[in-house]
Amino acid sequence: MTMASKKSGIWWAVKMVLLLTFFAVYGVVCLVGSTIRLARRICWGIRLLRHTIRCPYCHFEVPLVGRYLCSTPGCGAEYQGFIQKCNICGSGCLWTPCPRCSAAVQVGMRT
Ligand SMILES: [Zn+2]
Ligand SMILES: [Zn+2]
Repeated sequence: MTMASKKSGIWWAVKMVLLLTFFAVYGVVCLVGSTIRLARRICWGIRLLRHTIRCPYCHFEVPLVGRYLCSTPGCGAEYQGFIQKCNICGSGCLWTPCPRCSAAVQVGMRT
């Protein structure tokens, strides 16, 4: 074994250790991020199981089931049912105005 091949072997090992460390850290970051997102979605889903959602400003119980007008361009359908999904075009609803104070109450999550 020559001196040059011994040196390149050490560099190869150092590069492999750095790459493995990078991918291990990247994997942990991805795992923690997706676990947090999953927990947030589960909490949000549990919150939407109720028929009302509390307005964060005036604490009025905003109904989640009723008659709504879809504001998606090209749809504009008036639908009856759960607020979060238009029965005609299937688009989701991010917020609705509070009937009491007109503030935006979030009913959907950005993906
Ligand atoms: Zn309100
Ligand atoms: Zn629609």
